[in-house]
Amino acid sequence: NDEEASATAAATNVDIGAPTIFDKIIAKEIPSSIVYEDDKVLAFRDISPQAPIHILVIPKSRDGLTQLGRAEQRHEEILGHLLYAAKIVAEKEGIVDGFRVVINSGPTACQSVYHLHLHVLGGRQMKWPPG
Ligand code: C5P
Repeated sequence: NDEEASATAAATNVDIGAPTIFDKIIAKEIPSSIVYEDDKVLAFRDISPQAPIHILVIPKSRDGLTQLGRAEQRHEEILGHLLYAAKIVAEKEGIVDGFRVVINSGPTACQSVYHLHLHVLGGRQMKWPPG
């Protein structure tokens, strides 16, 4: 079925450290719906929303941070900044009282874009466990 096919497709993507589509979004070479931006992070609406509100928060400089599973100690500051930016985004979107933050790390978690990103999801009752 479609769900299995998309899971298989995502699980097929591997981290080779190549530039991603997010570089073009950061460079504004391809348009995105930006929700929040500062000198270090960019937050924009996911092109394929899985909830009424679905925003991605990404570091503007990837700096080796392709996936959380490859984070190094030097990334601590940007990781904290991303998480705080997720809270600001939730506040701006009016969902700060209930939202979910997801990081898919690696093929088994169905990561498809190897530029670390936080998914901020909300605007509906979320379920647990996630798929
Ligand atoms: O965690 P994962 O790597 O699977 O998430 C990538 C996300 O990036 C997907 O939710 C996908 O819809 C989104 N995306 C996007 N715009 C693109 C390419 C992917 O919002 N041009």
